[in-house]
Amino acid sequence: MGVLRFTALDEALSRKPQRVEYPSVKTSEYFGIDVFDGKKMQEFLSRESYLSITDAVERGKSLNRKVADQIASGMKAWAVERGATHYTHWFHPLTGMTAEKHDAFVESFPGVGVMENFDGGKLVQQEPDASSFPSGGMRNTFEARGYTAWDPSSPAFVMDNTLCIPSVFVSFKGDSLDYKTPLMKSLSVLEEAAVDVCGYFDRNINRVDVTLGCEQEYFLVDESLYNARPDLKLTERTLMGHSSAKDQQLADHYFGSIPRRVKSFMSDFEIEAYKLGIPVKTRHNEVAPNQYECAPVYEEANLAADHNQLLMTVMKKVAARHGFRVLFHEKPYKGINGSGKHCNWSMITDTGVNLLSPGKTPKNNLLFITFLVNIVKSVFENQDLLRASIVSLGNETRLGADEAPPSIMSVFLGSQMNSILDDIVNRVTEQKMSPDLKAELKLDVGKIPELLPDNTDRNRTSPFAFTGNRFEFRAVGSSANVAAPMIVLNTIVADQLKEFKTTVDKVITSRNIKKDEAVFQVLKEYIIKSRNVLFDGDGYSSAWNEEAARRGLTNLKDVLTSMEAIVSEQSKTLFSRNKVLSERELEARYGISLEKYTKKLQIEARVLGDLSVNHILPTVYRYQNILIENVKGLRELFPEEEYKKLAGNQLQTIKEISERADLVRSMVYEMIEERKKANVIDNIKKKAEKYSENVKPYLDKIRYQIDHLELIVDDGIWPLPKYRELLFTK
Ligand code: ADP
Ligand code: MG
Repeated sequence: MGVLRFTALDEALSRKPQRVEYPSVKTSEYFGIDVFDGKKMQEFLSRESYLSITDAVERGKSLNRKVADQIASGMKAWAVERGATHYTHWFHPLTGMTAEKHDAFVESFPGVGVMENFDGGKLVQQEPDASSFPSGGMRNTFEARGYTAWDPSSPAFVMDNTLCIPSVFVSFKGDSLDYKTPLMKSLSVLEEAAVDVCGYFDRNINRVDVTLGCEQEYFLVDESLYNARPDLKLTERTLMGHSSAKDQQLADHYFGSIPRRVKSFMSDFEIEAYKLGIPVKTRHNEVAPNQYECAPVYEEANLAADHNQLLMTVMKKVAARHGFRVLFHEKPYKGINGSGKHCNWSMITDTGVNLLSPGKTPKNNLLFITFLVNIVKSVFENQDLLRASIVSLGNETRLGADEAPPSIMSVFLGSQMNSILDDIVNRVTEQKMSPDLKAELKLDVGKIPELLPDNTDRNRTSPFAFTGNRFEFRAVGSSANVAAPMIVLNTIVADQLKEFKTTVDKVITSRNIKKDEAVFQVLKEYIIKSRNVLFDGDGYSSAWNEEAARRGLTNLKDVLTSMEAIVSEQSKTLFSRNKVLSERELEARYGISLEKYTKKLQIEARVLGDLSVNHILPTVYRYQNILIENVKGLRELFPEEEYKKLAGNQLQTIKEISERADLVRSMVYEMIEERKKANVIDNIKKKAEKYSENVKPYLDKIRYQIDHLELIVDDGIWPLPKYRELLFTK
């Protein structure tokens, strides 16, 4: 009798590293070969269309139909040359994955025959049926049908013989049904607000781009082992499994040499990524066994968000060629590190200044401090919204456990930056500052660059850390669409910058002081107001939990409570004031988050129930029978006294198996009952709460018993690949 686990293990162990087809030219020569970028546009478009599309991208000008037709025709010519037979709008519905609906280029024309056809209408708009996408319980108020519309600012690309056109997805009534629409809106409000504030310091700044670099963490698992774990297959995480005797305690995986099979997978997906113009740069082992990271060079945020989604798709595809599965789940394994997606975020001006990098002159440094302080204040005032932007069922188990940032939103600045802020608070006065003091302050601010290189105590435990020339939002989960947290971050900072501009303007006139002085005064006020969010210490410590509570910072560990912030008054005011999301859209998003949470929990509960009843219980009873037979044999062979001595432990084990198996069995049925009760609730919020309160606890309780059984039962008949096998097979 074979156990599937062993067949899978045999297969996994016999796998060899795949040969990678390296291109014969250096990377820079084929980088972006599958992207319809500026160079190809120049080649395939008329000068007029080329200029129109650059105008559309850079200045948001709209394109007329004639130009759209010309662009479509050039794009098609290029795509067909790259082997494309189909085209699709490629968009980010709120499911969290990207969506595609392919149409062939070929059309038949009566009397003419079959030919490739693609026009401006098709380029600009497509109509997938929106009714099967999540609507957050707003199907009635939300137009069921929607359309996708081309986003010319993110270049089209060819993947798998299909021309993919990055697009937004909106309902006919104009409600956004995706991540990209509000992301783009948030980017443009932030740009506008930032340019305005930059105006205080440098009138030559006309444009500000948000930059984003996402460090993608993931686990690899051998495909055969994955297939032998129904929980991984259906939920992307292990719902059971005793911890391996050795896992990450020796810290021997982090930055260790990359196993050969993994290395060839990495090289292979990097080549694919380069062809698609994704500038992947860094690769290394992460802390947990079989955990890795890939980081690109940062790009403009809308493009970076598209690229991160695309990269995840590419990684999944390429993994299959190497007999791997990629797990983007935030916590595939209990007890070891989970995976995050650190979002490195900054802003850059059209004069080439990184707004979060201290400059060489005092003027630039005041600009830098201004942005820094405004960001700190916006994080302080919008902790709950930021948290709501990153919570999910998957991230819930990661946050606050095993080296992941806690659910308290604090900001790490480093001791030097903190002392500069202290300095501003201590020295800036409300009365007119003396020219000497002003000069001194500016001089001190001017010294920042010399100080900053020492800022190396980069705190890994902070959810939101300043890392010298950018902020790093670390609470983001590995499977997330980064647009979700970026929409919030961009909008809260934009809103804050607008408030700053208004306040400084007021202070200048009401106190009759110069601009720099007004800036200093407002910054001082802001620092005092929002200081409580600054924390450089150990975010993992329990002392921080207490300290944070004293400081009045919120610490919501529960996902559903955290999600409520999406529809708080504060959120509605903020997003509608900035025209990023309407109240209706927020309600819908909240509803979708609740639905997603509930459905995922429902699937996990079902899978665990099935596995318990169909895999685990039969196995443990089988082993128990072996013991029973053995004990019976002992009884036949030995006199009573001796038998008792010899069989004692086994009898104990037989009892333990029965007890634990009984518990598993009864809890599975109780869990099913709770599900039934929850399923009949109509209100999606109440339903989610029922699932969270009454169904979810069973996942841990049942697992606890099964993990103990795993330790007792004969390894030779245990049906599921164990943690040591999943984590150490390379
Ligand atoms: P670490 O692991 O030390 O945080 P990595 O090199 O893994 O650093 O990742 C840093 C990420 O930050 C990269 O994607 C990098 O391109 C990005 N980054 C660097 N500077 C900026 C910036 N100004 N704006 C946005 N992202 C940035
Ligand atoms: Mg990092």
